[in-house]
Amino acid sequence: MGGIGSGRPSGLGRNTVETCRAIDVNRLNREGCLRPGWAGGWQWSRDGEKVASINLRAEEDRLHLSYRVRVAGGDWEDVDETVRIVRVPCRFGGTRPYFICPGVVNGISCGRRVVKLHGSGRYFLCRHCYRLAHASQSEGAWDRALRRANKIRMRLGGEPGMASPFPPRPKGMWRRTYERLRNEVFEAEQLADEAFLIQAEKLLTRIDNPKRKRTFWP
Ligand SMILES: [Zn+2]
Repeated sequence: MGGIGSGRPSGLGRNTVETCRAIDVNRLNREGCLRPGWAGGWQWSRDGEKVASINLRAEEDRLHLSYRVRVAGGDWEDVDETVRIVRVPCRFGGTRPYFICPGVVNGISCGRRVVKLHGSGRYFLCRHCYRLAHASQSEGAWDRALRRANKIRMRLGGEPGMASPFPPRPKGMWRRTYERLRNEVFEAEQLADEAFLIQAEKLLTRIDNPKRKRTFWP
């Protein structure tokens, strides 16, 4: 998908981004784009032709993105986005960089430590943010599945969300009942995950050339 740009200084004109591009922090790191002071372009190409690009500028602990974007066939907009970078020590020495997702969905800041940010809308955000944004707008199958899972989690005294630890069996609940509920949650969450990927892929196919390889989602 991505490719290193010319490395010329940013600010020489805004580049454009179609929706559904992704940036990968490890790839940027390998290409030297996270070195403090580095500025240049990053581009996506297809069949050797540039299809989208953004300008990047790196500081010690953040990366500035600037680009033009058109969301859902609207007008082109200039967007500046700043993404924090954290470096987490590896077990055997060295560090590994991560993006801190700058997303704010339904008034809640994301702040997740992620490897990829997706330009599926106006901003580059993590997959969870796009999923949440979508959940608040639609009543899709995976949306319903997630709600069902969250209801059970809370009934068991836990927190909603796949990232939360699964609550232990409440006192007085039959083990069999607990196990049935736990399976229901895991199945619903797996369904939600798969349905989301299918939906995202459909969207990508619609936007991108169908011959393109699937590269944006794991
Ligand atoms: Zn996020």
